[in-house]
Amino acid sequence: MVRSIRHLVAALALVIATTTLGVVATAGPASADACYTWSRTLSQGSTGDDVRQLQIRVSGYPGSGGVLALDSSYGPATKAAVTRFQQAYGLTADGVANAQTYSKIYALQDDDCTPANFSYAELNRCNSTWSGGAVSAATARANALVTMWKLQALRHALGDRPLTVNSGFRSTSCNSAVGGASNSRHLYGDAADLGAGSQGFCTIAKQARNHGFAMILGPGYPGHDDHVHVAAPASRFWSAPTCGI
Ligand SMILES: [Zn+2]
Repeated sequence: MVRSIRHLVAALALVIATTTLGVVATAGPASADACYTWSRTLSQGSTGDDVRQLQIRVSGYPGSGGVLALDSSYGPATKAAVTRFQQAYGLTADGVANAQTYSKIYALQDDDCTPANFSYAELNRCNSTWSGGAVSAATARANALVTMWKLQALRHALGDRPLTVNSGFRSTSCNSAVGGASNSRHLYGDAADLGAGSQGFCTIAKQARNHGFAMILGPGYPGHDDHVHVAAPASRFWSAPTCGI
């Protein structure tokens, strides 16, 4: 008796799972995600942690020179960022985060919430704990996640070609070992040193201005002829003289 109930439960679970998969494959609604699932449409005026989760995903679309506040409040800047995200992926660009928007985010994100083309491991070649920097390990890791979504936006704008992060988070000792500045943003987890890839440093540095990086250092700035450094300090500092920045 117990055994047959177990079989029945298992069979029902299989039916439910199959049905769920079928719906996802055909209708394409907002689907459950191992990372995060939005349960409502969000638009200007919305507030809550689901807004903040959305802001992280569209943080690479603040417009030229902008930085999107992750303040859990869906104001005009968030609407504009969502609109730019929608435009970048050919969606209906109305600034409303709906099922179509979420489906694109789900398609872009991995189960650990990182965007498809970047990983926590790539953003931290220093240690596995994210500790030893200028902020708590949790903050450093969270900062790196936002940086990765900005990098995903930058990468997409540059034609979805590989964009390599050679250095991300650094503990104090890792930073000292590579001769980093004592107040380096790498200690905060929000910095990334980018390789040239097939785009070239100046193309990357110029495009980065549109994707939420308050700090951009590149060719012509001391020590930055062989990479582009992007980060998120509180105030803007861009310098890549060779690139006209
Ligand atoms: Zn750097």
